[in-house]
Amino acid sequence: MNICQTDLPLDWYQEEFKPYAEEYQALPDRRPGTVLPWLDRYAQPALDHFGDALLLVAHFYMGGEIVKLVERYGGAVSDSYQLALQAARNPHKKVIVESAVHFMAESIAILAHEDQSVWITNPKAGCTMEMLAKDYMVEPVAEQLVERYGDDLLVVAYMNTGGRIKALAGRTGGAVCTSSNAPKIVDWARKKGKKILFVPDQHLGRNTAAKLGMDLSKVVALPDPQLGRGGFKVDDRTVAGGLAALDRSEMILWGSFCGVHTVFSPAHVQYWKERGYTVLVHPESKLEVVQAADGSGSTNFLWEALMKAAPGSKLAIGTEGHFVRNAREQGRLRGVEVVHLADIPDPSYGSMGCGCATMSRNDPPHLAGMLDLLRKGKPPAINRVYAGDVVDEESGALDRLKAEERRELVHNARLSLQRMIDITETGTTSC
Ligand code: SF4
Repeated sequence: MNICQTDLPLDWYQEEFKPYAEEYQALPDRRPGTVLPWLDRYAQPALDHFGDALLLVAHFYMGGEIVKLVERYGGAVSDSYQLALQAARNPHKKVIVESAVHFMAESIAILAHEDQSVWITNPKAGCTMEMLAKDYMVEPVAEQLVERYGDDLLVVAYMNTGGRIKALAGRTGGAVCTSSNAPKIVDWARKKGKKILFVPDQHLGRNTAAKLGMDLSKVVALPDPQLGRGGFKVDDRTVAGGLAALDRSEMILWGSFCGVHTVFSPAHVQYWKERGYTVLVHPESKLEVVQAADGSGSTNFLWEALMKAAPGSKLAIGTEGHFVRNAREQGRLRGVEVVHLADIPDPSYGSMGCGCATMSRNDPPHLAGMLDLLRKGKPPAINRVYAGDVVDEESGALDRLKAEERRELVHNARLSLQRMIDITETGTTSC
């Protein structure tokens, strides 16, 4: 499978994980019939050791072997929102092992009970969208906006943020959102009469504004976050339209994006529509792609659309490559043809579909190693995930909060998560 985020090496093994990687590399092939029995050799002793206290979780975007193994052992494979609830909803699970990106494991840790521990199989598995919205990038900019707009500014943090940004949302009276409930959350913030800082995905923010019928001239994007790794000055030079446009705006978009979801173009949509396919895309895609498609929504929405599709139907899905590969297998069982939106056999269309390279850093050797090291009581400290942890995805350096700071972060991050849950389920919030 192609990868999109070519800025980072595809994989990386900590010293402790190298023996498992070497065994994996020596396997005769990568077929499930070969990989799964090899993974079983490490998973089964860990399951025998921890019993019902062990929970494996993975995201929909993980490769097939990990998904199959997690399902085989009764674990959870879901989107980031459902993953975040795994510890809180399963208090009897004391050891939670996550194969996905770091912010997802951290969201589980924020909501976890005191006696639960959360582990990520590769701590350098970052989300490139989140990597351009670290606290040291966003907070200096948010401070300038708070200085200018005071209590009128409210931060909406997409689930694809670290705990420090979710806590920032909590402190400003804001909420977390997901790709499925973003319209509800933004609508709630607008009804409060607030100016919204939407972090980090500019495309989800813009698509949400369009869906709500907002005046897009009042939706202003901040510059490329790479402009200053320690934040940038908000002034007439850095903001399109200058400070006057910012003052008129209803929503300010942080400038990050997902490299996997921005490869799609309206020409891809047109190609498949002309051939009788229904086109469904994820709202992290560009506005013009979402508007050209037949529908858009979260990974859960896309999966449900597949499960509801009548036999004989044809779907072109614009999202992460592993998800579409898993959907294609599922579709085959149900007589539904599934293609990846960007997999067009004509080079003039410019790009092929791809998988999330950083999430794929959690490969089978990482899972085998994590389970084996946990069973032996020798897990590396960096693989334990605490709320507020920030890992540098290139160097592996870890910035971990002191206990007192962490308690405050958890309080504020839970406020923003709870507001999301209240708004989504009841339409109101008490906090
Ligand atoms: S697909 Fe994009 S948004 Fe999702 S985890 Fe990967 S980099 Fe982040």
